[in-house]
Amino acid sequence: MAVHKIAVLAGDGIGLEVTPEAKKMLQIVGKATGASFEFEPALVGGSAIDATGEPLSDATLSLCEHSDAILFGAVGGPKWDKEPQERRPERGLLRLRKELDLFANLRPAKCFAMLVDASPLRREVVEGTDLMVIRELTGGLYFGEPRGREEFADGGARAINTMAYTTREIERVARVAFDVAMKRRKKLASVDKANVLIVSQLWREVVSRVADDYPAVQVEHVLVDNCSMALVQHPTHFDTLVTENTFGDILSDEAAILAGSMGMLPSASLGGKVGLYEPVHGTAPDIAGKGVANPIAAILSAAMLLKYSLNRVTDADRIEAAVLRVLEQGYRTRDIHSAGTKLVGTVQMGDLIAREVERAY
Ligand code: NAD
Repeated sequence: MAVHKIAVLAGDGIGLEVTPEAKKMLQIVGKATGASFEFEPALVGGSAIDATGEPLSDATLSLCEHSDAILFGAVGGPKWDKEPQERRPERGLLRLRKELDLFANLRPAKCFAMLVDASPLRREVVEGTDLMVIRELTGGLYFGEPRGREEFADGGARAINTMAYTTREIERVARVAFDVAMKRRKKLASVDKANVLIVSQLWREVVSRVADDYPAVQVEHVLVDNCSMALVQHPTHFDTLVTENTFGDILSDEAAILAGSMGMLPSASLGGKVGLYEPVHGTAPDIAGKGVANPIAAILSAAMLLKYSLNRVTDADRIEAAVLRVLEQGYRTRDIHSAGTKLVGTVQMGDLIAREVERAY
């Protein structure tokens, strides 16, 4: 049987606490199914700076390149805030994304029925929300040229960024989005600003062309301003969304609010040969080391790893169902705790979910 080689880059802060809980789930899947997982730990971010002087060593990059998937925690923290730009912990993650050509970022936002009251939106608006935002990650306004700043003699200045895409860049992220939509409810919203931006007109044109290859998917083109309104007015209208880098950055955070807590949100970055899976949250210095972080985002990231990198959809579904069952039983970490529910820590929550995953086989 094939060996699944997983690079485990827990990083810093609560990354070090939640990643072992995610790994635990993969170990259970391995034990229950006979699938063989090989875990290779490596340093990234601040802990890598402390050990090697840089946030991502060539050795770690090479390990990732030769793995089947990367289980990532989070990087950063006040200790390294004064490091120069090129030695900031976040550079480790940015370099990984670039070197591995991870051009599609998948962020699901699901409102769990039992957490509906944690959302700032009314129950009748948010209940049933189950979205997947796909953000183009390596192009668009973040990376387009020309970019820069010029200073004027009169003390003023002019700064410029460029939203640029090639047809190839749009087509490849569109194909990821259609493939994901096919695995979900076969509904795709492509979000742009085609009434104003020429680059969005090209985006729309290419997405429409790719749509011809996916006749089963129902496609709509939505303007980004309308989309941001619709997301808080009737989020259940949407299933899969695909959009430009900056639009995606903003919309995926907006969608995150629907799910109630940062501690619940997983993500996947896909594109090249190796996918990277990480919780959306950061290192949470305010709670790091206390054993109270919610491991569910990391655990659901492990489920995404099974689904998207290893094509083990049933195993992924079992983990998601186990999370749901433990929440139904009333267990909560501090971030999602409310009166009448049972407060547990990071490891306890991981153990409870692990037990439910075991029971599912
Ligand atoms: P954060 O996501 O770390 O924390 C924001 C708030 O959410 C905090 O109050 C935190 O306690 C809470 N929170 C986050 N995850 C939680 C969890 N699993 N369980 C319970 N509560 C949770 O964002 P921040 O405070 O803006 O950033 C802290 C550090 O993390 C910074 O150094 C930042 O650069 C870094 N960061 C890294 C990543 C990444 O590695 N991908 C992403 C975001 C931020």
